[in-house]
Amino acid sequence: MQIAVIGAGISGLVCARRLMAGGHHVVVMEKSRSLGGRCATRKFGDHLVDTGAQYFTLRDAEIRKEVEEIAGDYLRKLEKPILVNGEMYRPGEERFYLANGNNRLGAFLSEGMDVRRESEVGRVIQKGRKWKVEGKEYDGVVSSAPWPQTAALFGMDAGMVLFEPNLTLLLEYTIDWEGSFYAKMNSSGRDPLAWVACENGKAGRIQNGRSVFVVQASVDYSRQNLEKKPEEWMGDLQLRFEDAWGVDAAKRGAVFGHRWRYARRSGDAVSPRMPEGLYVCGDSATDSRIESVWKHGEETAAQILAAG
Ligand SMILES: Cc1cc2nc3c(=O)[nH]c(=O)nc-3n(C[C@H](O)[C@H](O)[C@H](O)COP(=O)(O)OP(=O)(O)OC[C@H]3O[C@@H](n4cnc5c(N)ncnc54)[C@H](O)[C@@H]3O)c2cc1C
Repeated sequence: MQIAVIGAGISGLVCARRLMAGGHHVVVMEKSRSLGGRCATRKFGDHLVDTGAQYFTLRDAEIRKEVEEIAGDYLRKLEKPILVNGEMYRPGEERFYLANGNNRLGAFLSEGMDVRRESEVGRVIQKGRKWKVEGKEYDGVVSSAPWPQTAALFGMDAGMVLFEPNLTLLLEYTIDWEGSFYAKMNSSGRDPLAWVACENGKAGRIQNGRSVFVVQASVDYSRQNLEKKPEEWMGDLQLRFEDAWGVDAAKRGAVFGHRWRYARRSGDAVSPRMPEGLYVCGDSATDSRIESVWKHGEETAAQILAAG
C-alpha cells in the first residue's frame, strides 16, 4: 500500500518505520525543517538546548533496545534528580537524553526513509477508496499532528481532543551553577514557574563558565499570555526565575522564548471514529510522553498492517 504519514515527530516516524518494515511504501511529510516534532532541540549561542521534551523514559524493554541500537553512545542517563514541590520526583526512575540533542531521536529514526521536510500538508480529500494528499492518492493516511491540527486536515471537530499551550524560556548566565538536582517542578499550577531545569545537567551541552536554564510556564500562565507580545512574558518569567533562584540578573546572557500552542494533551484521550484509511497517532490518543507516543506509533502501524 501507499501510505502518507503527516508529521515527522516520534510517533509518526516510528509508525512509518514499522510500515516500511511491513513492506508498504511510505512518504513522511513534515511542515518544518527539523525532525522530531516536540522532541525538539535548538542551538542557543554555542549551546545545545532541548526546548521540547526534556528527557524520556525507556521502561519498555523493546523500545529501550531499539533506542540503544539507533542512538548508540549518544544515549545518556540524567544523573541528577528532579524535585517536585521540594521532594524527590519518582526516586529510582531512569531518565534519558541524547548527548547530541533529543531531536536526534527523530533523525536516527528517519534514516532510510522518504521524509519530505518543509512540506506542509493541507486538507486531505477522499477520492473513492483512496485519500488525496497534496495532489497524490494514497491507500492510507496517518496524521501524527496534535488533534486540533489533525482535525483541520481531516475535516473533523477540533474540540474533540483538547491540547494545552506552553510558554518556554531559555536563559543563559555567565555563572557555574552547581545544584544537586537537575530540575525543579511545581505541580500546584499556581506558580508560573512550573518547571525549571539546568541544561548543564546534560553532559557536553553547555559551554564552560556558562549555565543555561529551561523555564516552562504553568498551563494557566501559558494560556493567559499565549497571545501577548513575547517580550512581555519573557521579561516577566525571567524576573520571576532570577528572584526565585537567586541568580544575578547582571550575569544574564542570551534569552530565547518559544511558544508551544499545542504542547500536551489536556483532556482525556479519545479515539475519534475514523473513516476507513485515515489514522491518528501520537498524543491525541495517548499520554504526552515520548515513550507513550513511540508505543502508539507502533500500535497504529500494527492496526494498518492488520487491515492491509
Ligand atoms: C515543552 C514540552 C516539554 C515536554 N517535556 C517532555 C518530557 O520531558 N518528556 C516526555 O516524554 N515528553 C515531553 N513532552 C511531550 C512530548 O514531547 C510529546 O508528547 C511528543 O513529542 C509528541 O510526539 P508526536 O509524534 O505525537 O507529535 P509531534 O512531536 O508534535 O509531531 C507532529 C509533527 O507534525 C508536524 N505537522 C503538524 N501539522 C502538519 C502539517 N499540516 N503538515 C506537515 N507536518 C505537520 C509538526 O511539525 C510535528 O513535527 C513535552 C512537550 C513539550 C511541548
